[in-house]
Formats: sequence, structure tokens, C-alpha cells
Amino acid sequence: MKMIDWGEGLQLSQLCFGVLPVGPMQKDVKPAEAGELLLEAFEAGVNFLDTAQSYQTYPHIRYALDRWDGHHIHIASKSSAETYEGMQEAINEALSALNRNRIDIFHLHAARVGPEVFDERRGAVECLQENKEAGTIGRTGISTHSVAAVREAARQEQIDVVFPLINIAGLGILDGDRDDMAQAIAEAAGAGKHLYAMKVYGGGNLLDESHRALQYVLSLDGINIVSIGMVNSKELEVNLGLLEGSVDEKQLKQTPTSSKRLLIAPFCVGCGTCLKSCPNEALYIEDGQCHVDEDRCILCGYCAPSCPEFAIRVI
Ligand code: SF4
Ligand code: SF4
Repeated sequence: MKMIDWGEGLQLSQLCFGVLPVGPMQKDVKPAEAGELLLEAFEAGVNFLDTAQSYQTYPHIRYALDRWDGHHIHIASKSSAETYEGMQEAINEALSALNRNRIDIFHLHAARVGPEVFDERRGAVECLQENKEAGTIGRTGISTHSVAAVREAARQEQIDVVFPLINIAGLGILDGDRDDMAQAIAEAAGAGKHLYAMKVYGGGNLLDESHRALQYVLSLDGINIVSIGMVNSKELEVNLGLLEGSVDEKQLKQTPTSSKRLLIAPFCVGCGTCLKSCPNEALYIEDGQCHVDEDRCILCGYCAPSCPEFAIRVI
């Protein structure tokens, strides 16, 4: 596993294990099963995990941490808390649930918020800063889908790490296209921030072109670590192979990772926006939530970027 040097002794694996998809918001894998998968990843050299307070995956991670006695596992978590007190509670929860005295990276979880987040959540930013000074978090960060927020993060002295959404198709980017985001990422890197990328496969919609999608993100100025959500050993194996160069486009087509399906997350608010984007009229609203007619759905993924809540995913 290629290791990336982020300075001050911090060496992170090029593959960051995105823990969201094993949690109750997506595949809902049991903590023990997900923990065993994390242990497989650790054995393969992965030393970096990304999660969040809202993902409810601390038990899955804790299962693995309690059974691992190898290299240190670096954990990034995040919270959408808007106040000092709320952020402190989120940090305390992570420290306690993960049985750690320090969380390596803690982000403002600001997926769909613009650059105003730094003003609107001033108390939360102050809390991150004070916890960093106290040693209870290692580095402060922001996770975002917004080009303007990445640009603003580059100017914010109290932010060390930026976790932007970027993929070859530009899926899910809030206020621009992939080139706008790539430029903002380069600006943030130029300002001394460290970055790792999320949704490099567009939430699962780009799995058919994983090789190209991964190469694109890793070619960007400022990105050398990718966070990829995985739910089984086959996906882990393929992603390790892609990063190590032992799996190419041709082999990838011969080794499908898993059968795909469209997942609509429970946090769907039933707004109906996605219905207009489906060319096959496969989506409908019932009991205040969106549902998919699997006989009509061709898993094209066109609906995913239309959801303002980012609730649709092909997995
Ligand atoms: S656009 Fe998203 S939140 Fe709105 S109904 Fe569709 S899935 Fe639900
Ligand atoms: S994946 Fe394609 S066919 Fe399926 S619901 Fe979304 S837009 Fe419609």
C-alpha cells in the first residue's frame, strides 16, 4: 500500500476506507461483519478510515480497533453541529465510542453548505481549534460538495484538511463542474491544505468505469488519497488492485465487484425532485418517501445527482 506523507509524522494510506456504506444509512452491515472487513483492510496496509457522527458506524470501527494490534489506524470523523457545545458533544462521543484519547482528523460536516459555513458555524470551528490545541483532535477539517466552500477553506487559517467531492463526471458537485472543483482543490493545496477525495465513483454511479474514474482523481493537483466506501471483500480487493496497478480496465470488467441496485436512503425527504430526472419513470413517492420500481430501473444513475439530499446511490 502506497503511503502518503502529510507532514509532522503523519503517513496515511493512499486508500482511505469510507465507512458510510456499511452503516445503517446504506447497506446496514452488522458491526462484527463490517469490523472483519476493516480488519482485512488493515492487514492489506490501510491505516486511514473516514466516518461521521451521523453515519452511526462507530460500533463497526470499534469492533475492528479492539481486535487490531498492528499499525496505528488514523480516523477522520465529522459532525454537522453548528455550535461550540454541539461540536464538543460530537468530539466527546467519538472519543468515547472509539475508545481513543484523540481523533486524528475532525471535520465540519458541511456537505451541502456553501462558504458561509465558516461564519454560520463559528462556534463549532472554535471548538475544533481548541480541541486541536488540547490534543483531543489532531487536525481540523471540512468535508464539502461545494466549490466555493473549498475555495474559502483555502483561506481559513484554522482549517488543516479539506475533504471535497470530486469525480470524473462531476456528479454531486454543488456549484460548478468537475473542472471548477479541480481548480479549487489545486488552490487549497497551494495554500498548504491537505486534501483527500470523496465520491470518486460518484456514489457508485461510475463503477463501470472505476479504473478511469480513479485515475482521473489521482491525477489532480492536490489529491493523493481517495476515500472509497466498500461493503465486501471483493470490493476491497478490486480497489486495492486498482491502486496497486495489478487490476486494469480489462480485468475489472471480468471481475464484477457486486450486483448493483438503487438505494434510496432513509433520509429522503420525499420532495420529488428526482422523479423528473428518470428517463424510465421508475421513481415514485409513497408515504412521504421516494421508491424505485425495479422492473423499470436500468441503474443508469441519472437520478442520483438530481437529489438535493444526496439520498440516491447505486450500490
Ligand atoms: S430528490 Fe432525493 S430527497 Fe427528494 S424525493 Fe428524490 S430521493 Fe427523496
Ligand atoms: S437509476 Fe436511472 S432508471 Fe433507475 S431510477 Fe435512477 S434515473 Fe431512473
